[in-house]
Amino acid sequence: MDNTILSNTISFEDTSHAFAYKSNGQLKKAHFLFSQMGNPLLIQLGLKLMPLAIKYKFPFIKSIIKATIFQQFVGGETLMETASVANELEKYNVKVILDYGVEGGEGEAAFDNSTNEFINVIEYAATQSNIPFISIKITGIARFNLLEKLNEIMLKNIDSDLLSRLQLAVSHLSENEKLEWKKVVTRLEKICVVAQKNKISVLVDAEESWIQEPIDAMAIEMSLRFNKEKAIIYNTIQLYRHSRLDFLNSSLAITSKNTVVNGVKLVRGAYMEKERKRAIEKNYLSPIQTSKENTDKDYKKALEFCIKNIKHFALIVASHNEYSNLYATQLLSAANVAPNDANIHFSQLYGMSDNITFNLANATISVSKYLPFGPIKDVIPYLMRRAQENSSVAGQTGRELSLIKKELQRRKSVGKL
Ligand SMILES: Cc1cc2nc3c(=O)[nH]c(=O)nc-3n(C[C@H](O)[C@H](O)[C@H](O)COP(=O)(O)OP(=O)(O)OC[C@H]3O[C@@H](n4cnc5c(N)ncnc54)[C@H](O)[C@@H]3O)c2cc1C
Repeated sequence: MDNTILSNTISFEDTSHAFAYKSNGQLKKAHFLFSQMGNPLLIQLGLKLMPLAIKYKFPFIKSIIKATIFQQFVGGETLMETASVANELEKYNVKVILDYGVEGGEGEAAFDNSTNEFINVIEYAATQSNIPFISIKITGIARFNLLEKLNEIMLKNIDSDLLSRLQLAVSHLSENEKLEWKKVVTRLEKICVVAQKNKISVLVDAEESWIQEPIDAMAIEMSLRFNKEKAIIYNTIQLYRHSRLDFLNSSLAITSKNTVVNGVKLVRGAYMEKERKRAIEKNYLSPIQTSKENTDKDYKKALEFCIKNIKHFALIVASHNEYSNLYATQLLSAANVAPNDANIHFSQLYGMSDNITFNLANATISVSKYLPFGPIKDVIPYLMRRAQENSSVAGQTGRELSLIKKELQRRKSVGKL
């Protein structure tokens, strides 16, 4: 990878900033956890046991999960439990994206319940000084199969624009499904109205490609209504999909024509294995890039595109990739965009890449931790993604472990351990 442009001013190697908020005990615990996550057999076993333990209510395993992986990656079981984490982060100038992490609940009552929960989270965030964003998943308020059906119809009309495609697809639904869809739109509208009133932004997570078309269309539709002065709604762009630069371009055409802010969160993407498996099973071209290098290239191009057109965008650089983060800061300074510009933000998941978050914060750049919360049984899919992502010694785990070891050694050398 091209490293020539890396900024000299910010270093992600400074572990004293990165882990200042962790006591010796917490740091040793994180060391233990990441060492264990480098053991593929243990991870395989854990991934099988986690859902079973929760389903069959094994209290012992639930306590182990709560004291280890849950504590590392999740803010608490309730909104109130996240307060101490958020307050601690604020001391270091780190903001929070609150994520009510319930995944996979279905049924109208569950969707209404999630909508109310999202609204609670927005109203709570508005009372706090360092929670400018909340994140939502559309599958929290809509039936997966309904989204999938809309997606399928939308892809048959690829020549029309995104919003017309959604309208056309809705017209093909049964009368009951049309009513069901109307409720989904009303739920999202309700969330956006409360968000706008409270000046909190809502980040719509990107999910599986086979439901993403209606999610994109809804996010754009809401942007046209709510993003007139500031980005109340942000969509998420997954650059591990080879078609997303085109989508970014076409979404800019719609939002700039309507003079609204295009809120985007740029990510690489979290469902790669699942996407590839489904493409093989159903015999279609995988939507995922053929290599990590190609994903990296498109992430870089997306950063360049958004920063070049920054007057039309509100941008969140959501990545643990050190190069991407540094490159973004470099592009911003070349474009004379102030590090604390209201339309620029960086974010990493809670429990990961503290070296990036805390060093960016130390350089007065607007940065947050994405902080999920919810009952253990509901955040299991999220925890499983984190365990999988952190299971390669050569990848993220290796990086986290070596930083933690470096900080433990540093504290020892200055007599603080
Ligand atoms: C604040 C925040 C919000 C997020 N929100 C979402 C979201 O809404 N939806 C979502 O899907 N994800 C989301 N993610 C997760 C994100 O998509 C990535 O899975 C994760 O951040 C790892 O990518 P990276 O840029 O941090 O770093 P890296 O470690 O540099 O990249 C790893 C990523 O590269 C890609 N990749 C790896 N190997 C290959 C390969 N062989 N071929 C092609 N691509 C490859 C994969 O996407 C993998 O996750 C979010 C992450 C953050 C930090």
